[in-house]
Amino acid sequence: PKLQIPGGLMLNVRDTGAPPGVLFRDISPLLKDPVAFRALIDLLEDHVRASFPKIDLIVGLDSRGFLIGTPLAQRLGIGFVPVRKKGKLPGATECISYSLEYGKAELEVQSDAVEPGQKVVIVDDLLATGGTMRAACELLKRLKAEILECLVIIELKALKGSEKLNSIPFYSLLQYD
Ligand code: 5GP
Repeated sequence: PKLQIPGGLMLNVRDTGAPPGVLFRDISPLLKDPVAFRALIDLLEDHVRASFPKIDLIVGLDSRGFLIGTPLAQRLGIGFVPVRKKGKLPGATECISYSLEYGKAELEVQSDAVEPGQKVVIVDDLLATGGTMRAACELLKRLKAEILECLVIIELKALKGSEKLNSIPFYSLLQYD
């Protein structure tokens, strides 16, 4: 499916302090445009409904995954679970460290966030190297969730991140080389 953004603008490219030459795909224009934002959630909702007859929870990744995951969960009439950067969640948590493109990071989920066997779709804005999504999958597996799919708006194909997810189904709306 095609994501139409009025004015033809897809995504801005903005420097974020990464090494020179590394581009950042910015979804801010998409969030700022109510028609495009609605079209985005429509597409994600249609995809999830068509793919999975039963799903218990949307899991969203800190922080842009929250912006996509919460409206999607509301549309589907199901709950939302945040996976956060370390140190933000109260109570007992599961924690995992992983390597980023530039450095290291740690993600956490509340230990009681998902019941064993619950069916989840993990949502983020973008898949680059796949390290973040893979770490989130590991956390959810520790909670014995059944991961139906990893779902993103944008996939940076050249980085081959989807290969890191092994056998977990993966879906992206937009692909860039
Ligand atoms: P990965 O772990 O796949 O290398 O990086 C993906 C994570 O970093 C996602 O949580 C995503 O939000 C963020 N990220 C990395 N590069 C970009 C980018 O160019 N644009 C956006 N919007 N997020 C990015």
